Amino acid sequence: MSRAKLATLGLDLPLLPTSTVGSFPKPDYLTEARAKATRNAITRSELDRLERQATEFWTRVQEELGVDVLVDGEQYRGDMVAYFAETMEGFSRGGLVRSYGNRYYHKPVIVGEVRWPGPITVEWWRWTQSLTTRPVKGMLTGPYTIMDWSFNDYYPDRKAACLALAREVRKEVEALLEAGVKIVQIDEPALSVRPDELPFAVEAMHAVVDGLPAYYITHACFGAFETIYPGLLDLPVDNLDLAISHSALNLLAMFETNPFTKDLSLGVLDVHSHTVESPEEVKARIMRGVGVLSKERIWVDPDCGLKTRTVEEAREKLTSMMAAVREVRATVR
Ligand SMILES: [Zn+2]
Repeated sequence: MSRAKLATLGLDLPLLPTSTVGSFPKPDYLTEARAKATRNAITRSELDRLERQATEFWTRVQEELGVDVLVDGEQYRGDMVAYFAETMEGFSRGGLVRSYGNRYYHKPVIVGEVRWPGPITVEWWRWTQSLTTRPVKGMLTGPYTIMDWSFNDYYPDRKAACLALAREVRKEVEALLEAGVKIVQIDEPALSVRPDELPFAVEAMHAVVDGLPAYYITHACFGAFETIYPGLLDLPVDNLDLAISHSALNLLAMFETNPFTKDLSLGVLDVHSHTVESPEEVKARIMRGVGVLSKERIWVDPDCGLKTRTVEEAREKLTSMMAAVREVRATVR
């Protein structure tokens, strides 16, 4: 079904399309430059030049590895929520808090009506797409996650904040589609935190995408998926990108009870481990998915953004993934 949608968008992807979740590690020169920029030791335009250089580097790497659907690598972002909150109106920057694992970030505070300020990610998409003939995904953080990872000092409740954000995120989707984007990934890693809120997270996603023609992917991680499955299938997106490198058997067993109705991006690389998986290990993970769902509906990617790995680890892990996919393509066709 979604293959047909891809075709109507003019996209012809191979069996088991490969992609990545979004972020890549920043080369050392960029990490240093970002630190300097916070001390005003280099100019914004110098930082911008280095962010473009790193974006181009990762675009070339993805092309060389043969990845089918590319990302811009998020070299210009710090945190996936703070980046949008700092760009949109209605937020102020809060104190430093610790979130998942060792992730520290300035938790944004909603202090007024949230407003889209004009295109946020469009220029990065345009620049990346200009470097390659392969499709580049538009990459956004979803309204539920922006709400959940912010303090709310303005809206009456979490649902109101989430729906207000959805109306503004939609404008970014519209701007991306206008620029030519065909595949949009809207990340909602916070989705499984409060299962009772799933209905309004779904309502918010409708507000973001309804009537806008694109192939939509939602990445979710940190998952206690059993608490939000099968309700998760109500999200109006074409593809759910779920981490299975740890919990493959449980997740796939759940599909036997309640059939999975969308395309599935199988997260087959453990991004939290330094160990580079062998192609055989990755192949076994892919085959578990192929055993449960039609191969036409499976995409392959790492189980989260690769930004916490080193540049070399990220490249080696993706090399294994691509080798595994080539082998599987040759055997299951
Ligand atoms: Zn993730």
